[in-house]
Amino acid sequence: MSTNREPIGVIGTGYVGLVTAAGFAELGNEVYCVDIDSEKIEGLKNGQIPIWEPGLEELIAKHRDRLHFSTNLSDALEHARLLFVAVGTPPTYSGDADLSAVNAVVDAMPPSDQHALVMKSTVPVGTGETIKRVFREQGKAGFRYVSCPEFLKEGSAIKDFLEPDRVVVGDDGDWAGDAVVELYAPLGAELVRTDIKSAEMVKLASNAFLATKISFINEIANVCEETGADVVEVAKGMGLDNRIGPKFLQAGIGFGGSCFPKDVTALKQLAGNSGYHFQLLNSVIEVNELQKRRVIAKLEKHLGKLVDKKIALLGLAFKPNTDDMREASSLVLSSRLQAAGAHVRAYDPVAEEEARKLIRGVSFKSTALDAIEGADAVVLVTEWPEFAELDLVEVKNAMAGDLLVDGRNLFDPGQVRDAGLLYEGVGRASSA
Ligand code: NAD
Repeated sequence: MSTNREPIGVIGTGYVGLVTAAGFAELGNEVYCVDIDSEKIEGLKNGQIPIWEPGLEELIAKHRDRLHFSTNLSDALEHARLLFVAVGTPPTYSGDADLSAVNAVVDAMPPSDQHALVMKSTVPVGTGETIKRVFREQGKAGFRYVSCPEFLKEGSAIKDFLEPDRVVVGDDGDWAGDAVVELYAPLGAELVRTDIKSAEMVKLASNAFLATKISFINEIANVCEETGADVVEVAKGMGLDNRIGPKFLQAGIGFGGSCFPKDVTALKQLAGNSGYHFQLLNSVIEVNELQKRRVIAKLEKHLGKLVDKKIALLGLAFKPNTDDMREASSLVLSSRLQAAGAHVRAYDPVAEEEARKLIRGVSFKSTALDAIEGADAVVLVTEWPEFAELDLVEVKNAMAGDLLVDGRNLFDPGQVRDAGLLYEGVGRASSA
């Protein structure tokens, strides 16, 4: 890798910030990371990685010498021209993006003709224009601004950084945009260089489209349940059409995570605030909410009232290979089950610590079989590969009941039934 690489700053050391930092360190850049969370920064200095992401710890350890961690912004300003912003933009109660962390970063910048903010955080269209206006009002008109939205997926984030489908750079055609393009050049990815607003919209529209695809196949699954078709077969048949493609056509109990729910809502709000009613996105969100709750009806179909029933949840994270619990379907499910009077026990290979912060009243178990032991029903919530390896006869023997609700269509219904269990998938023929 090149040795004359430009040093960069990364503000915010969460999922996106740490992966961006480690990725650029791999490309040969010195990286100056800043976070307001002093505990996190102390841990990072000692090699403790605050999130679970495959390969991240190893990559950070490999490039210890190139990665610098501090709570002091001036460390990054002193060494780097380009300051990547990767702070959180969670939803407010109204569904708009909360830009307070982004605004704090903007306000903390000193006047400079030598620096640029490179926005990795997902922000509403128009945020870049607003930030440039604020810079002018604060006497910092020389500060440059680039939109460079992030498309990584938790669970494969390092690979996504190093082998992106595309790199999107929205800028005013100045040195900062050129420098960002130069930084990403070794990856050889398709480049979309455009204006700032269009770059901001690429990110929101991409996530909204993927979420729409999931809600679409979930609705098809629900119709399959009414008509006797099998959504797995249907999705296969659809996905082989190049115009459709097989990805994001897996029916299940709804999407979650830190991005889809919030970005879909943020785009809906953005449209509404601009005077346009984005009808389709209302349905995408509503279908997703109802999808999580359909599990309850499937349990009740076989168990009747759920009062005092023991329900085991397999998986809690919003998807496999991450400990991220933000907007996970398990949150809604566990609280609905408890509201119905059920006793909920759960196991997740890595997300227990995060889950404990968000879920009350659930008994956390250290293996899948511990969770299953004595359960009236098992609900597969997250399709961790280790659950596909479960011996279904052992599962049946450990349970008090015999119902398996497969929320991600992970299991072969025939094999489940051969093990003596009742099967309820999503959009597939279920046990009567
Ligand atoms: P995160 O919550 O994991 O991390 C944000 C970090 O920013 C935290 O460590 C926090 O302490 C720090 N921070 C907050 N205010 C700060 C400040 N003023 N100065 C310095 N640090 C500050 O968030 P994330 O998941 O990495 O997401 C960051 C952004 O990237 C969001 O806008 C998100 O929508 C977007 N994004 C996330 C993903 C993903 O999969 N997580 C993917 C693409 C885009």
